[in-house]
Amino acid sequence: MLATADALATLLGAARPIAGTESIPTLDALNRVLSADVTSPLDVPPMNTSAMDGYAIRTADLARDGASRLPVSQRIPAGHAPAPLQPGTAARIFTGATVPPGADAIVMQEQTEAAGDAVTILHNAQPGEWITAQGADIRSGSIILPAGTRLSPQALGLAASVGCAVLQVRRRVKVAVFFTGDELTMPGEPLKPGAIYNSNRFTLRGLLEKLGCEVTDYGIVADQLAATRATLREAAVAHDLILTCGGVSVGEEDHVKPAVEAEGRLSMWQIAMKPGKPLAFGAVRRAAAREQGDAEAKAESETSATAETFFIGLPGNPVSSFATFLLFVRPFVLRLAGMQTVAPRTLSLRADFTQPKADRRNEFLRARINEAGGLDLFPNQSSAVLTSTVWGDGLIDNPPNHAISAGETVRFIPFSELLS
Ligand code: AMP
Ligand code: MG
Repeated sequence: MLATADALATLLGAARPIAGTESIPTLDALNRVLSADVTSPLDVPPMNTSAMDGYAIRTADLARDGASRLPVSQRIPAGHAPAPLQPGTAARIFTGATVPPGADAIVMQEQTEAAGDAVTILHNAQPGEWITAQGADIRSGSIILPAGTRLSPQALGLAASVGCAVLQVRRRVKVAVFFTGDELTMPGEPLKPGAIYNSNRFTLRGLLEKLGCEVTDYGIVADQLAATRATLREAAVAHDLILTCGGVSVGEEDHVKPAVEAEGRLSMWQIAMKPGKPLAFGAVRRAAAREQGDAEAKAESETSATAETFFIGLPGNPVSSFATFLLFVRPFVLRLAGMQTVAPRTLSLRADFTQPKADRRNEFLRARINEAGGLDLFPNQSSAVLTSTVWGDGLIDNPPNHAISAGETVRFIPFSELLS
């Protein structure tokens, strides 16, 4: 059996960022991945600004001790260009307004007394007080967002703050997904004896959409070799990754494995993890584009600059497919999307339970954070129990051959890290 870390390293070693990029409005760029650095064309703030409502003064004009009475020579609201400050005078100024040339401090209005056209300064201001210097936040020419950044709302705000109306991003990763198993039924259809609902279709589509992928969902593909091969050929043309679910266990009566082998290449892995274990990784040839003579598809396959589409086959058990997606497919897709840092950040938390039996596999236990800040374990850790994934806040990454005693610190991967 393959160690979890080795399987992940092999997958990430094969992943290359997809080729296509596009320019899109910053307003539409949430969750997209930058394909080029964003460099600031200006200083932020672009001028010296006042951090207070008050008076701009020259500290040299202040009396050494006691109050100084200065005539008010101008009024500067935010958004207006000031005149230079006349020596021996003060300028009324407001938060965010430009500090007039010549002034070297702002005195907040609470430390002044206004009377007619003059103001009495009651504070011994020091040079620089309450002035936000030009470029204090961002220097012109500096990289504010490096290529590979996934654009959060704050990142969009930062880009906008330096005036970027358009951003260079990678196109979305295109993923085709299909499901195998004659027992699978869609919700809304009556459930025949021996059938189950196709819950994984909902989970996996949601997971892919959360990652920002463009998803083509082929639904349930009939369990026949010819149909499976045809779907693979069609999906390979215009997608970066084909994801399937079910039929990768040993001894499976399923056509996914022979179909991928016939249309490309496939490695069947037994990963030393629980839930999960079987995972298939390979690729499907893209020759179909030329044979079909479909001009659009042909252009598409040529721009993507590879002759193959990646293939990942997940196990069918609902918790297994969920966990293997989060641990393997998520980082793989993020690498295709152009991100470098794809590992989830983990927490070290106290186990408030005992798991006396060590497993020889790397367990990923569904657990939740309790009010004392420790972890509670979902009582049923079976890979068919989807309830555990909704109850839990994340996965405990428990190394092979390790029993857990209450009070011990364990490695916890929050779903918030894995689902974004
Ligand atoms: P398999 O990996 O095909 O051997 O399937 C393992 C288990 O997962 C079986 O009990 C299947 O019925 C179940 N299963 C397979 N695909 C799905 C699916 N799309 N949704 C829910 N359960 C599934
Ligand atoms: Mg099956």
